[in-house]
Amino acid sequence: ACVISPQAIVDDACASYSTLERINRNVKPALDDLTRTTDFFSHYRVNLFHKKCPFWNDENGMCGNVACAVETLDNEDDIPPIWRASALGKLEGPRAHHPGRSLQLNEPRRPLRGVLGEDVGESCVVEYDDECDQRDYCVPEDESASSKGDYVSLLRNPERFTGYAGDGAKQVWDAIYRENCFKRSSFPGGSAGPGEGTSPKGPAAHDFRAVIEAAGRQQILAVSRQHNPLTPFVSNTGLEHDDECLEKRVFYRVISGMHASISTHLCWDFLNQTTGQWQPNLACYVGRLHRHPDRIRNLYFNYALLTRAVAKLGPYLSRRGDYTFCLGEPAQDEATRAKVLDVASRAASVPDIFDESLMFKNGEGPSLKEDFRNRFRNVSRLMDCVGCDKCRLWGKLQTRGYGTALKVLFEFDNLDPARLTDDAPAPIVLKRTELVALFNTYARLSNSLMAVQEFRRMVKETEAEY
Ligand code: FAD
Repeated sequence: ACVISPQAIVDDACASYSTLERINRNVKPALDDLTRTTDFFSHYRVNLFHKKCPFWNDENGMCGNVACAVETLDNEDDIPPIWRASALGKLEGPRAHHPGRSLQLNEPRRPLRGVLGEDVGESCVVEYDDECDQRDYCVPEDESASSKGDYVSLLRNPERFTGYAGDGAKQVWDAIYRENCFKRSSFPGGSAGPGEGTSPKGPAAHDFRAVIEAAGRQQILAVSRQHNPLTPFVSNTGLEHDDECLEKRVFYRVISGMHASISTHLCWDFLNQTTGQWQPNLACYVGRLHRHPDRIRNLYFNYALLTRAVAKLGPYLSRRGDYTFCLGEPAQDEATRAKVLDVASRAASVPDIFDESLMFKNGEGPSLKEDFRNRFRNVSRLMDCVGCDKCRLWGKLQTRGYGTALKVLFEFDNLDPARLTDDAPAPIVLKRTELVALFNTYARLSNSLMAVQEFRRMVKETEAEY
């Protein structure tokens, strides 16, 4: 086994691919069981419809508007309406509104009954309002919105091909990669990032609310890709990051690995719009991943990072009282806890698969931590600019999942289970949305590893063509 430090290039030479694939073979059955059979982990609360894209104007037709952003095929008129991008990107199944704290306290179960389906244990799904925490790497779901979001079934809305593409999707990816540009702020109204010396008088570089207050909403909304002077500064090939410090490279790899995982899913569960069959699309994989080994490396890198975060979290989840998986339902609570601990202990089977202790230590490292966190928050805010409901759901879930993993890695101490007695003070506790996002993001990566292995086998069979 080879320990993956954040500096390491994950590749076959260090046998890491096979080490990670071995871990995945062991973890995947338990992870699939957890995310597919428990009410707690198969439902996610998310604010999908009540937040505007905060970075550019929805109304200028560039993004944020389903009609303009969900467009891919020139000949969509020739295919059945249910296979068109606008239909594929829609959410399916019943949804339930977040009941709000007072309603939960007075009538803990009623608001959801029957909405998510009779079989869903409502006490496993509902959660109390988010509290802000400055250690978060993601924005809380209720930021600047009165609605607390909807509960949706992740099983009924699998991450797969939706046809969302074109300028809208490109603009979001461009903006996400622009966050990797640590030396300058991507906000016209914001000062440079902390690495460049944030002015104490000005708003925090990436505190969007502060920027809105200072610069006025209209100014912010006027940003579009063509008008942003920073656009040419950014390229997302990854090559220019070789001389960057460790933390910046890790930031880039997390984003590129997430992008690679999304691409893997849409290629793996692809709709052949001629036959109407859902099937793997080898050409899609070859074009987006196989010809870009750096993207596959970043995907595996993310798997190592999430494996370490889940393993590190394990001891925190064991103490009853700190985490309740189904309020008032002891049997379901216990069954879900057993499954989550099973995943965590399997993830811990190769110790120190990722060594986070090297980060934010030397050189400009410590000063970069806040910048790193703020930039990741911006990536999560950018999900409100994704113009396809299903893509936005999974984009929000995964940015929150990575944000939670980073929080566990960089804000949580290594916990010695022997010292976690019942009367010891409670350590930091994750919110329900964070837990659900973390384990489902891990499951996405697990699926991507499996799909990439299968795609590799298919490529080998047709080697001559590629
Ligand atoms: P894109 O994937 O859009 O990539 C844009 C550019 O980024 C590429 O030209 C390349 O230069 C660079 N790039 C690509 N991959 C990487 C990487 N891994 N690392 C570094 N650079 C890279 N579509 C679906 O069908 N289903 C979904 O669930 C879905 N979810 C999405 C979620 C989000 C948050 C976003 C922004 C888009 C989503 N999309 C989804 C759209 C999808 O990701 C693509 O944008 C779309 O398929 C068009 O692909 P493309 O070939 O133009 O390249």
